[in-house]
Parts: sequence; structure tokens; C-alpha cells
Amino acid sequence: MGLGGDVPAAASGGSDHDRHVRALATRLPAPLAPLARLAFNYCWAWLPDGRRVFADLDPELWRQSCCNPRFMIEATAPDRLARLAEDETFVRRVAALGERLDAYLARPPLAGEEAGRPVAYLCAEFGVHCSLPIYAGGLGVLAGDVLKTASDLGLPMVGVGLAYREGYFRQRLDLDGWQREYWTRLAFEHLPMSLVSGPDGRPLAIRVPLLGREVLARVWHVAVGRVPLYLLDTDVPDNAPVDRWITARLYVGDRSLRLAQYAVLGVGGCRALAALGIEPRVWHLNEGHAALAAVERWRRRVAEGMPPDVARDAVRRDTVFTTHTPVAAGNEAYRREEVDPVLGAWLEDGTLDRTAFDALAAGADGAPMLAITPLALRIAGRAVGVSRRHGEVARAMWHPLWPDRDVREVPIGHVTNGVHVATWMAEPMQALLDAYLPARWRDEPDDPALWDRLADVPDEALWEVRRRLRADLVAHVRDASAVSRLARGESYDYAEAAARVFDPGVLTLGFARRVATYKRLALLVADVDRVLALLAHADRPMQVVIAGKAHPKDDEAKGVLQRLLAERYRAGLGSRVVFLEDYDLHLAPRLIAGCDVWLNLPRPPFEASGTSGMKSVMNGGLQVSVLDGWWAEAFDEEVGWGIHSPDADPATQDAHDAAALFDLLEHAVAPAFYERDAAGVPRAWVRRIRASMRRLGPRFSSARMVREYARALYTRS
Ligand SMILES: *Cc1c(COP(=O)(O)O)cnc(C)c1O
Repeated sequence: MGLGGDVPAAASGGSDHDRHVRALATRLPAPLAPLARLAFNYCWAWLPDGRRVFADLDPELWRQSCCNPRFMIEATAPDRLARLAEDETFVRRVAALGERLDAYLARPPLAGEEAGRPVAYLCAEFGVHCSLPIYAGGLGVLAGDVLKTASDLGLPMVGVGLAYREGYFRQRLDLDGWQREYWTRLAFEHLPMSLVSGPDGRPLAIRVPLLGREVLARVWHVAVGRVPLYLLDTDVPDNAPVDRWITARLYVGDRSLRLAQYAVLGVGGCRALAALGIEPRVWHLNEGHAALAAVERWRRRVAEGMPPDVARDAVRRDTVFTTHTPVAAGNEAYRREEVDPVLGAWLEDGTLDRTAFDALAAGADGAPMLAITPLALRIAGRAVGVSRRHGEVARAMWHPLWPDRDVREVPIGHVTNGVHVATWMAEPMQALLDAYLPARWRDEPDDPALWDRLADVPDEALWEVRRRLRADLVAHVRDASAVSRLARGESYDYAEAAARVFDPGVLTLGFARRVATYKRLALLVADVDRVLALLAHADRPMQVVIAGKAHPKDDEAKGVLQRLLAERYRAGLGSRVVFLEDYDLHLAPRLIAGCDVWLNLPRPPFEASGTSGMKSVMNGGLQVSVLDGWWAEAFDEEVGWGIHSPDADPATQDAHDAAALFDLLEHAVAPAFYERDAAGVPRAWVRRIRASMRRLGPRFSSARMVREYARALYTRS
């Protein structure tokens, strides 16, 4: 089977992929054979019925396998497969899904797209699916959504990232409420990925000059619909043990190791695509981690004889950069003493003039160092932030790089983020849209005219979907909290009480994201007595589900989690507030879809965009959020609630925003939710849901975002 897209299969991991598909197919009875192809292409996860077909193979094993379809086929007992092969309904579903896959892969390319010259999309993390946990949070999930959407639209693209053997950490809170991290080794050999071989049939080995030696990296291929994702992996037997560790974990603390990761991603990524015979027409650096790719391309042209200035300008013309970090500390910079041991041999092999590199890589104030965001801004011909507000913030922040220009003329624009609707909209909501919208909504979720048909959906039907999604979440909360209480070492009684937490009829609020200080989870525990009064209100109660990981080195954020957990035995709180561990792509879709209200309380202007609120919109959730990031451009009174954070010192902001939040919840949100007519439907609430989905659904879909990139940034200047 081909990979789709325009990449010649033999040179791009396609033959290795096909070999693995054939091997997997030998385990399947003939009527189930299409499952092998499906298992090796993640688009099963967003094709209709895909998730259910694999889950129905063996629901318990599905859970245990972290929803990994390859492992499912390898591990499902042969007699069970034989029985399923005789089940006509199941066989028909498998056949239909296989046809859906073929039709999907055969779709025409996006109009005007150049065949054979994909966009290379480089990112340090990719959140494609929960079975492949090589992402930490929003940046990776966005990157996964971009690949899926490019595939949907037929925009030729290849992804380039790192294959982290131990992924991101798993989270447990101990009895003291302190976060503990642990890592597990991912079984790549049982995941839907294949090692790319070179012309000699052995695994391709990319050489990355690093730490004064040559480190080898292998390349894994993952099919994301029509987009191949290539992941570099230094866990190669021929490497020294310390080098095998380079790609072990995401965002390691050690600075040399981190810089080495960026070199594997940028320099190695560039060399990997060359070895695969792929010649991208545009290189998109998604965040600065991949910036060394542009330097490697510059180097390569100079080595081929191009004058350095001409070569640099040529690289600029086809390099696009998206910045995501409005927090100064998040923009990493390395001192020369840190750079030289890691990258010195590569930078000083006589190809590039070191002073020319130093000028590109200097800090915004000209200080000599490797500052990754300024480097990316100087070497990319086009740069954007991730929301309108963030564009403004980024122009002000990086104004020193263009001191002669007015701040409005700083060449950083914006493309507001979006989310992949088929991934983030829960099945019951998709079914509702299937029933009332023209079928084309699945292919063109960014067309507002299609969402206008939501006007035809009866209030009762929309409300019924909301009730169902909330009930699913409550069931999950009960299961998950019982297990996590036991694992933490709580008493058996307290764990058993988890079966009674939450109520499927109660207004459900959600707050889930990385626990970074600027996201201000702390506001929720700023006034515990007031929170208690809101939760326990006699007629208008609320319940809150919270999730999120603190960075392993961020003790301040861990302290916030601990303060939150310290309240758990208070009367009334244990049954109305739940913290769920291990916020990831397994938990997020269900959690977000089930919440009636999605909370977001960043300290402005640090929320570059935020995407979880968009995912909530797709499921009929309403937003209560500080006006920052995407919400600053999406908010109006008819679709949700906004908090204007005052321009003041942090303590004043916190006090104001916490009070504003609780006032809104008490006086606006809860009354609207509980105001029911004779049929039990909250008419005004449903009206808001409809307005929110209709207006924000198409606008904050990733189809709108990727089309904007294609039109405005992926065209060569
Ligand atoms: C969407 C998502 C995020 C990002 O959420 P924000 O609102 O942007 O902070 C983080 N983690 C996971 C697992 C997600 O799905």
C-alpha cells in the first residue's frame, strides 16, 4: 500500500511500512485483513467507526494496550479473531473502514499544490495519538493536529521529530499531594511505526556531528493519514551509552543534552530528509527547537559553493517560523561555553564563518550566545505568533531585533491556532452533526455556511448530547478516582467513596492543562470557603474536574498541586472536586467533552493561544476565560464569558480575577445552567451552545488554520 502524498515510497520508508503491514496481516483471518493496513496508519483514529472497530476486538485489551492497534492484533487470541471473522456485522464494519481508508488516501491534493515538493514540518514533539506519547502538551498536540489536517486537505507535508524512547513522564501524586514522576520504556517494535532502511536494506543511519564525535540516529516512519512523520532515534547499538540516551526523554533538564536533542532534530532531521530523497519546498520550524535545521541547510549550500550571503537569503526564502512562547524564560539561550562542546565541531569545520553564525544566533540585545528564538526569527523569511494577541505581544517582545522599525512594522504576523475537529469532537456530537449538517462538514469543517445548519438542530437534541457527554465523564471520573486513590495509598473507604463522587445532573466545570505558574490553577484555591459555598449551593451546585502535570523541575507548580490536594478531605469537597492524574491524549478528549464549562485563567499576556477551549467549543462546552490568547479574539457576550484582567501587579490581578471568576460562576453561569423549562431544557444555555459552535467551530478548526498557512506562508517569496 502506498503512503499517499507525493513521496516516492521506496525511498521514504514506504517499503518498510508495507513489509510490516504484510507481516501483521498474516496474523489475521482473511475477512479481517484490512485491519493490518488500518493499524499502521493513524487515520483509523479519526475515520468514522475506526476507534470502535479496534476497541471491539477486545475492549479490555484495548484499554491495557493504551489503544495501540498493532499490539491489539498481535495480542488478541487467535480463536477470538476467528470468531470475529465469522461475525458478519463486524466483518462488514471492517470492510467499510478499509474502504474509507482507501478513499481517504486517494483524495485529490489541495488545489494548486506542487506535486513532489512537500512542506517539512519540524517540531520537538508530536501529539498524534495517546498510544505514541512523544508530546508534553499543547505544542505537540497542535503539531499532531497540523499533520492530520494537512493530510485531510491534501497539502503535501512530512513531519520531522524525535522518537523519545521513554516519552514524557507519567504522573502520580503521593499521599502528601506531591507530584512523583516515572517513565516507562515505549515498545516501538509493537507500535504502528517502522524503522526506515537504507539502500543496503539495513536501518538507515544518519550521522549527526555532536559532542566532538558523530552520533548515529535511526529513522522511524509513522503514517498519519497521507503525511509521513519521521522520528529520529539515537538509541542505536553503535552509539555510546550516553549518546543512546539523547533522545530518551522529552525536554530533559540537562542543558547539553537538550542542545544535543535540538541538533538531532534540526541537523539530523535535515540530513534524514536528504537521505530519503525528499526535497521540501518549505521548511516550517514549529517553535525554535528545530532552528538548527536552517543553519544546516545554509551550511550545505555554502559547502556546495554558494556565497554565504546568497545561501543565507535562499534559506530565508523557504523557511517559516512559528513562535509559541511569550514568556521570556521560555525562549532558551545557550552561552558560548555551552555551545562549543556540543556543536563546536559542526560549526567550525571550515564551511561557515563562525562570526556570521554568531551574528544570527545572538540574543535580541546582541549578546553573544545561541538564542534559539532570535536565531529562528533572523533565519526565517516569515514568522508568526499563534493568535492575534500573541502576534502583538511577539512584535513588542522582539522589537529589539528590528530597532529601526516601528513596533507595528516588526515582521511577525499571526495565524491563530485551531484544532482537528474529527479528533476532538466526541462521537455523539459528530453523529448529531452528521444528522443535521451536509455531509461535506467532515471534509470542510472550516466552512461557516455548513455550521449555520446548527440552526436546524432542536434544543432537545443538542441538550441530550450534552447530557450524554457529561454522564460519560462522570462514569470515567468515578473509575479513575477510585484507582488513583488506591494507588496513592488512601484508605479503602476513601477509595470506595470515589464510586459516589460527582453527579451526572450537576453543572460540571473543567480545568486541565500543564500546571505552569502563569496558568494560575492557584486561583481555584485562592478562596476555598467561597468555592465550597458555590459547589454546595442547594439549588445550583457545581462540580469541578482538574488535571495537569507540573514540569518535573517546577517545584512552585508542584506546590500548587499540593495545596489543592491538601483540601481533599474537607466536607463537601471530596465528592465535588476531583483531580485526575496523567493528563494526556487518553484523558483529554473525554474530560474536555464532558465539561459544561471550560475554565482558563492565564495571567495575560502569557497564554499565546490556548487550544483546549477550542476543543471544548467543538463539544458544546462554554468558555469562562480570561481575555488572553485565542479567547481575546473569539469572545463575545453571546458565546461565553470573559474576564478582563486589570493591568496591575500580579497580586492585584490575582485577587481581581479570582473574584471576577467566582462572581461570574455564581451570578451568571449557574443561573443560566439551572434555568429549565417544563421539558427540563435550559433554553438560554442551549442557545449559547449553538451560537458558540456555529461561530467558533469553523473559525477555530485546524482546517482554517492550515489553509491560512498554505495560502499566506507556504508560498515561496
Ligand atoms: C489541548 C491540550 C493541551 C493544551 O491545552 P491549552 O489549553 O493550550 O493549555 C495540553 N495537553 C493536552 C493533552 C491537550 O490535549
